[in-house]
Amino acid sequence: GHRAAAPVREVASVCPYCGVGCQVGFRVRDGRIEEVVGRDGPANQGRLCVKGRFGFDYLAHPDRLTTPLVRIDGAAKDPADCLDPARARAKFREATWEEAMGRAASGLLRIRDGAGPGALAGFGSAKGSNEEAYLFQKLVRTGFGTNNVDHCTRLCHASSVAALLEGIGSGAVTAPFTAVKDADLIFLIGARPTENHPVAATFLKDAVARGAMLVTADPRGSALDRCATEVLRFAPGQDVALLNAMLHVILAENLHDAAFVAGRVDGIERLRSHVAAYAPEAMEARCGVPADQIRRVARRYAASPAALTLWGMGISQSVHGTDNARALIALALVCGHVGKPGAGLHPLRGQNNVQGASDAGLIPMMLPDYHRTDDPAAHAAMEALWGVALDPRPGLTVVEILEAAGRGEIRGMFIMGENPAMSDPDLAHARAALARLDHLVVQDLFLTETAALADVVLPASAWPEKDGTVTNSNRTVQMGRAAVPLPGGARQDLSIIVDLARRLGLPWTYAHPREVFAEMAQAMPSLANITWERLARQNAVTYPSPAPDAPGREIVFADRFPTPDGRARLVPAGVSDPAEAPDADYPFMLTTGRALEHWHTGAMTRRAGVLDALEPAATVSLAPAELRRLGVAPGDRVRVTTRRGMVECASRADPALPDGMVFLPFAFREAAANLLTDPRLDPIGHIPGFKLCAARVEAARTR
Ligand code: SF4
Repeated sequence: GHRAAAPVREVASVCPYCGVGCQVGFRVRDGRIEEVVGRDGPANQGRLCVKGRFGFDYLAHPDRLTTPLVRIDGAAKDPADCLDPARARAKFREATWEEAMGRAASGLLRIRDGAGPGALAGFGSAKGSNEEAYLFQKLVRTGFGTNNVDHCTRLCHASSVAALLEGIGSGAVTAPFTAVKDADLIFLIGARPTENHPVAATFLKDAVARGAMLVTADPRGSALDRCATEVLRFAPGQDVALLNAMLHVILAENLHDAAFVAGRVDGIERLRSHVAAYAPEAMEARCGVPADQIRRVARRYAASPAALTLWGMGISQSVHGTDNARALIALALVCGHVGKPGAGLHPLRGQNNVQGASDAGLIPMMLPDYHRTDDPAAHAAMEALWGVALDPRPGLTVVEILEAAGRGEIRGMFIMGENPAMSDPDLAHARAALARLDHLVVQDLFLTETAALADVVLPASAWPEKDGTVTNSNRTVQMGRAAVPLPGGARQDLSIIVDLARRLGLPWTYAHPREVFAEMAQAMPSLANITWERLARQNAVTYPSPAPDAPGREIVFADRFPTPDGRARLVPAGVSDPAEAPDADYPFMLTTGRALEHWHTGAMTRRAGVLDALEPAATVSLAPAELRRLGVAPGDRVRVTTRRGMVECASRADPALPDGMVFLPFAFREAAANLLTDPRLDPIGHIPGFKLCAARVEAARTR
């Protein structure tokens, strides 16, 4: 007979993929998400991209972990298991939560009490909630006893944040990307929003349709170039040469905003003499942009009544990332393009909660709200709030932690929702370092490449299964709500962290994320006037919020910067060559990044049916002329080799790539881009240069 269909229920939440932070409605029937619709959130106004609309069936994928796993006694950790899920799985057996948590905790305690807290480290997640990020860093700082806690912000915008903190005293955006609606000029550099922030890209196109001028700057062409008035195709790695040449024109011709600079910015004379040597004519050979175009764009940018500067990882993922961001910030500051409608600085954040996780203190040198661990006042305040003595010494960063693990100095790790065995540079080294750990606890949805090297694997909750808040690229804190039940024996991430903390001797009693949010609000003045209840009512509140009933401030720093004296600081940046320049053996430049359909290491999107069908396999992209020179047709397999590794996959012709450049997305295990990338770090932001290294490309021999 017929059974009446269960009614569809719509649960208001947020998209768990990128930092745009689109509000979604999960339409649920019989405990399953049937459909996802865009809700009228401040960052999306009903819009969604393909990931937000179709990227959710990974929840019920057969690979989903629903029971804790422990490594079988004597089963060796082999980095090759990262590529062979069946072989990796055979080295684990199912366990009860009691056994798995007991093992997880005892291994960490043994190392802490034997080798000392400095032998432990934790990687939290920018894909979890603010409450999870906050508790994770509190667990590492108070339970492990070390500041060795970091997350993927290190791999995306650490250099941008370092330069922003140094220049204007705050690492967050000064204006939302939606402020492009009031911009006269949009300067977009090192970013590909149509692929990586797709809904933000639609607001940019709307602004252009309304009459705003778009300037794009990137070594690779992109879809938004079609909407641009000026396209600056500069040479890879020469960001500072281009930006300093623009600064040269503006300062030599006195086009800067002299009143703004006099009132609010220090260091103009030092910058002026620094950029005197960077005339466009002197830089054109280096940066590859004609001098007259540099002059034209610089004059237009300076004359604009309101310019909004947006940037992505083309700026930040470089061994000169902090210098790139310094030059960009200087450009906006000398022209007064900060703190007024339609103007500002906006690093487009990668993951859905990388802003919130950073704010919550998931950073080795920063406590919540970016107070340095060794700042005596902040240190004392956190010790008082947490009731535990804290180590003031800054901890190690993501790449440094794995280097220390490779040397046997870090012996135990807790990794929640991150996948360094895919996301770190020089994967052969990173995987060997993870395999060398005495004790690795991984909390995740799937047996990821990282979990394949674990001692204990804890089955966790997916975003549509949990309540919690996240903070998007626009500084907007948004409420996520559980829409569907947890599968099998999986547990809420928050309750796993609390359970582990209790087993490490911490007297934690948090039973609901709202209790954690209340403590965060005490630790973080940025959250003043924002409460769990307010978010439950309003869904989204931007910080800073001046009163419990007043909307948050979208544009900040209209009168002063959050520095000790209220003034911004110009920091001159020098040009330097890429860390690894092409040569006779490795004549190409390899660049890496994301693809529209796939999210980061692919753990979720490659298990989402529609997304996997759209982009099922790794491809390496080259300019059509380069493919012809290699004697291969699009679709033929090619081999890409660097000093660190080799991958083979199908080729794709991409006319937007300049000659001599090759692009590989990093989501694909079978052709992992990060086997190839260079682990050298920016000295200030400690970020690796994922955007450039030297490579050799050749037709793959067919077997
Ligand atoms: Fe989700 Fe980003 Fe797409 Fe919006 S633009 S639907 S937040 S992935």
